[in-house]
Amino acid sequence: MDKAFFINIMKEIFLKYPAERDIVFILGAGASHPDGVPLKKDILPYILSGKNSEITDSVIGKEVIQFITENFDFDISLENYPNLEAVFGYLDYFIYNNQSLSSYYSQTKLQIIREYLIKLVHHAVNLHTDKEHTAYHNFWKRVLYHTRNFSIITLNYDTLLEQAFEEYFKTTGFIDYSIPLMNYEKTDVLKNFNFWVNPNQPVIVEHEVDPVPFKILKLHGSLNWKYCNCCNQTLLTPWDRHIDLNKGKFLGYTYPENERYEYSCPIDNTDFQTLIQPPSYTKVMDQPVLTQLFSEAARELRVARHLVFIGYSFSSSDVHIKALLKKNYKKEINITVVNNRINKKLKSKYAAISKEIKFLEITMEEFISDNRYFNDIFN
Ligand SMILES: [Zn+2]
Repeated sequence: MDKAFFINIMKEIFLKYPAERDIVFILGAGASHPDGVPLKKDILPYILSGKNSEITDSVIGKEVIQFITENFDFDISLENYPNLEAVFGYLDYFIYNNQSLSSYYSQTKLQIIREYLIKLVHHAVNLHTDKEHTAYHNFWKRVLYHTRNFSIITLNYDTLLEQAFEEYFKTTGFIDYSIPLMNYEKTDVLKNFNFWVNPNQPVIVEHEVDPVPFKILKLHGSLNWKYCNCCNQTLLTPWDRHIDLNKGKFLGYTYPENERYEYSCPIDNTDFQTLIQPPSYTKVMDQPVLTQLFSEAARELRVARHLVFIGYSFSSSDVHIKALLKKNYKKEINITVVNNRINKKLKSKYAAISKEIKFLEITMEEFISDNRYFNDIFN
């Protein structure tokens, strides 16, 4: 391209955030469910029911099913399963108290089982994420019609929200995950991963557009983040979210040949770990990337003019979210809760945060299909 021509049509800009945020959204499982992501309560039945041969025939699946069978009572015919928080809580008890369960289930073995179970959760959540995602598509459309000054705190691992942003990329804005990514480093070994734009550095865009950054804070991690515990860095692989359930390795696919390969850290060749925080009654927040995201979320909550919760039901394993909210939001701001099932129990959980909450008993689709709800927020 001619250099003068390039200068005429492109410009270099800094992406900036205003001092306050019009809305901070807090998304729970109910937001991703319409687009096919299973609810937390459906994940263990899916793993244990024996209906999915990809799981039952795999090394990882067999180990996890054996562990749960030996340690929990469940009945497939009665559809009576343990809950996921209880299984992770039980594993965490041994791991964090430095105890083994038996000669076979040593502490190291339990750590492996825990990581295996996380990989099965990852597998189950990822199952339908290649399909259409209309709910999030409409979410972006509706919100962007009203404002570009908002951020999103999500407790979901799936990547549907980001996938639905694709059409707005560069022209409307850039996604800011607010964590340092290996993808930003301009070294030779990482040059194949430099495609992800760092919103904290100047960006080159077309002259007529005026993009802004959007923070998406994934407090429980993400299916497309791969963590290396050797160099302590995270690699973002937006399109690769598959896991080999026999070897436990993350899988990538070459383009355009679509040939499968196994991921390992480009810097030190270490196997990647998942970067998702599973639900557990024993809450230990010691993952450095996620700890950093909590501080970022605290900052967003402090500058929010309005909080909108969508499909979030405050599960009893989410004490850390309650603590985050209680400590950081400004007491005078407006709070709206969108949930398709609002009962006394849910209201009481939210009442612990604030007494002044507007409850809308509607689905996310209904909320984003009607301008009225957003007009109310901005009035
Ligand atoms: Zn590494």
